[in-house]
Amino acid sequence: MPISKAHEDTLNILFIAAEADPFVKVGGLGDVAGSLPAAIGRVIKADGLHQTIDIRLAIPYYRQVKEQPFSVQKVTSYTVDSTHGPVLAEVYSAIVKGMTVYFISGEPIGRNPAVYGSDFKSDAEKFIFFSLACLMLPHALEWNLDILHVNDWHTAVAAHVMKFLHKKPPELRHTHTVLTIHNLPFMGAGAEDGLKKFNIPPASNKRLPDWGRNLPLPMGLAAADQIVAVSPTYAKEILTPEYGCDLQDFLYTRKANISGILNGLDTGYWDPATDQYIETKYDEHQLTRKKLNKSALQKEFGLDQRDDIPLLILISRMDPQKGIDIAVEGLRRISDVSWQAILLGTGMTSLENSCKELADELPQKVRAAIQFDSKLSHRMYAGADILLMPSRYEPCGLTQMIAMRYATIPVARATGGLVDSIIDESSGKDATGFLFSTAEPVSFSRALQHAMDVYTDKTRWRQLMLNALRQDFSWTRSALDYIRLYALLSKKSHAQRG
Ligand code: ADP
Repeated sequence: MPISKAHEDTLNILFIAAEADPFVKVGGLGDVAGSLPAAIGRVIKADGLHQTIDIRLAIPYYRQVKEQPFSVQKVTSYTVDSTHGPVLAEVYSAIVKGMTVYFISGEPIGRNPAVYGSDFKSDAEKFIFFSLACLMLPHALEWNLDILHVNDWHTAVAAHVMKFLHKKPPELRHTHTVLTIHNLPFMGAGAEDGLKKFNIPPASNKRLPDWGRNLPLPMGLAAADQIVAVSPTYAKEILTPEYGCDLQDFLYTRKANISGILNGLDTGYWDPATDQYIETKYDEHQLTRKKLNKSALQKEFGLDQRDDIPLLILISRMDPQKGIDIAVEGLRRISDVSWQAILLGTGMTSLENSCKELADELPQKVRAAIQFDSKLSHRMYAGADILLMPSRYEPCGLTQMIAMRYATIPVARATGGLVDSIIDESSGKDATGFLFSTAEPVSFSRALQHAMDVYTDKTRWRQLMLNALRQDFSWTRSALDYIRLYALLSKKSHAQRG
């Protein structure tokens, strides 16, 4: 089939993910998939780039998405082959903020109401089915695809299958694949049965460790034309034993095709000038009004309403990744210093308990809010002076960007996206926060003590706040980087075609 004119002029991109806000969101992937494709469309329109892009999003049609009150249209249906016979995939679509979104339903997706259930095998089957259904979509739509953009282990199999498909439909003949890694340690354990059921052969790349040949994420990492980590620093870190999850040697062989693009933030939603959930709105021209949020937060938590005492916050999943134990022990080490802290989070019981214990030990200064509460998080970002983020690893991290947008200064471990989004105080006049190197309570408490010393210098602190608040964390920058990448890959495919 000849390549249509539209295909020559327009870059056609299908972005596939396990979750996307506002349809379904469990974690950071939902934020990215909910914002990035739309931002790419916006940037193209706004910047008048010499490129036309038709980017569309596909997510599984979970029960909770079906229950939402927006109208969808059935577009097409087809079957995905399996050893148990054909499995029906039904595709619905909606136009949301000008972008086409596909919702794919089928028995493996409808079987379990949870997005990520506790049954690994069933989850793997669900996402393998979804990945294969996405691969069949361009042909069903007669839509020539330039880029298939997959995300994390859930959809990585699509990049793998694309590579070994011998009889590609015309719509996939010139398709390049991009795999974004949001979190390397989650590779899709328990997928073996699902891979067999859908006749997916193991990865053939000899450099991949044996254990990775039947795991969705490594399979995708071996196959994707381009691998993107969600920050430039994480892109380098995954090549090292500390962060590489035993794939570092393999990833090193793919180094030329690995890059890092820092995620953005929904700066319309996270904006202290318009935030509906905070006591007093403020911006860079009325920065002193932030204090009113501080005293409201102190009052809410029964802490002394004093502006001279630095108010520290931690907002996090209670997970070893986030260094909650480092924060608790580090705070304990400097418990004789004047500060107040509010720790918000849920997760691992032992970490939740250690936060509660610290609050019991230091009732004058520590509060532990063991809950997930988005509205409270807004009040905390607005009211605090300092955000604590001693992560052991952090592919990108949103929390520090939100904090800075609210002129709350991060004290964070120098890892992953934290390095790429925070300018350390030692850099001088442009600084936006405090970074420390070692994931140990002593390094953390030293950095925090330093931050609190600087806090007493009101002029210097105000400069830090202004710098932080003025950072551009919008999706525009990331969107432009992805557009460049898509264009580069498709240029190669045009050259191959020519
Ligand atoms: P991750 O995705 O690894 O959990 P990020 O820093 O990328 O970490 O994003 C975490 C997001 O979840 C932020 O928006 C943060 O405000 C929010 N969050 C985390 N824990 C809570 C909580 N207990 N209550 C409200 N919001 C939370």
